[in-house]
Amino acid sequence: MSAKGDMYYAWTKSCDIKGECGGAVISLLKYALENKIVDVVLTVKKGVDVYDPQPVFITNPADLDSCAGSLHCGTLLLPKLIKKYLNGAKDIKVAVTCKGCDAKALLELGKRQQINLDNVISIGLNCGGSVSPMPARRMIREKYGVNPDDVVKEEIDKGKFIIFTKDGQEKGISIDELEEEGYGRRKNCQRCETKVPRQCDLACGNWGVIGEKAGKATFVEICSEKGAMLFDAAQKAGAIDSCAPEAKGLEIRGKIENVMIKMGKKAQEKQFAELGTGTERLNKIMQQSSKCIKCYGCIENCPICYCVECSTKKPHLVRPGIIPPDFMFQMIRFAHIADSCINCGQCSELCPMDIPNSLYMHAQQVELEKMFGHKPGYDMTMPVLSYAEETEERARLNATGSDMIFENVFKE
Ligand code: FAD
Ligand code: SF4
Ligand code: SF4
Ligand code: SF4
Ligand code: SF4
Repeated sequence: MSAKGDMYYAWTKSCDIKGECGGAVISLLKYALENKIVDVVLTVKKGVDVYDPQPVFITNPADLDSCAGSLHCGTLLLPKLIKKYLNGAKDIKVAVTCKGCDAKALLELGKRQQINLDNVISIGLNCGGSVSPMPARRMIREKYGVNPDDVVKEEIDKGKFIIFTKDGQEKGISIDELEEEGYGRRKNCQRCETKVPRQCDLACGNWGVIGEKAGKATFVEICSEKGAMLFDAAQKAGAIDSCAPEAKGLEIRGKIENVMIKMGKKAQEKQFAELGTGTERLNKIMQQSSKCIKCYGCIENCPICYCVECSTKKPHLVRPGIIPPDFMFQMIRFAHIADSCINCGQCSELCPMDIPNSLYMHAQQVELEKMFGHKPGYDMTMPVLSYAEETEERARLNATGSDMIFENVFKE
């Protein structure tokens, strides 16, 4: 029997699965679906090309084969889709693949009762970072001298972003070099410290897989009892196989994780310093936010924003019909979200005006963490401020005439 903390090299036993690193993840998902441990799998599938990752809900196990592989030129965040399209997994069992930011979003939505975590199996993917699709295309054209349409596969390995073309070429450039020149991973990924998502039931990745299994197996860390049960059952049924990791591999994995965390912290220092402090920072944010066209993209895609009645739509707070909106529009978001921002980057990525919203939010989250000690996305601790259950809370306020909106959060 496996237990939390156990580690393995694992791989699929099916010839049909062409996984990224041995196909253990797809096989675990497939096993869970085939055996009705879950009703649906939420994962990612290649769309028209490698720059087009598409989220998919899968109920037919055979359809999972075509989801194998990792897509790095994508910026998806999956958990909000569970809330939005599966009624927060209230009455349905779901398995989902989670990068670090997905894992954190899952916990933040779970603690706010927007997702029923008891019904979710999360398969974590270690994550060195992702690249936005359009900048990825530009980078490949300008830095690699390759037509982006000729790229059939990309991967991040040994500190390099590597592309493979349809005529068999392979070209890798160090991520440091790319980022020094303004290419490379998304800015929020550069700042990210969640490299091995141990918040999930299993944490899977290629770091630490060495020797004859290199490239052919995934490093699996068991992170919960639920994860152990799935792993053991899939192995017993012959869906996957596993062996103990090499001691040197364990050491390498630990070292890489530490280096990546340090890089994330360094990027935070650099990017936050560029934003300035105090009034200078505020002026910068106000000036850059003045491009806002109030499309609500940042709110719609933020995992922490799910209110039925968003305060930014209240005419007494933000005057309707005025573009750019009053700065109160941004201030409401800062006040409501900053303590819980998980640095997923969605609010920057999907802002049509390229406003670096996630940088502002993350910078504030880090300050608030220093003040209140709350680290969002790592455990089920409640945030400093939160609308735990908005519908219930609004009903209570209407019924009692109380204006103590956080009473339900702070009650024993
Ligand atoms: P497979 O059996 O091929 O299954 C992979 C699963 O991941 C599929 O279900 C697929 O739909 C899903 N998936 C693909 N892309 C995404 C995505 N963007 N978001 C969510 N789900 C997705 N491992 C490391 O050790 N170090 C790294 O630096 C690292 N960086 C990664 C960056 C990204 C963006 C991704 C997606 C993965 C990364 N991984 C990293 C994990 C690694 O690439 C493999 O996914 C892992 O080893 C499992 O391999 P497998 O063969 O078992 O997976
Ligand atoms: Fe990966 Fe972190 Fe970027 Fe999410 S924010 S894609 S976990 S590097
Ligand atoms: Fe993600 Fe932006 Fe919301 Fe932070 S504020 S959690 S970066 S969408
Ligand atoms: Fe709107 Fe605030 Fe709710 Fe986000 S948290 S949806 S900004 S009211
Ligand atoms: Fe404004 Fe950008 Fe948010 Fe749209 S996504 S409301 S433009 S900040």
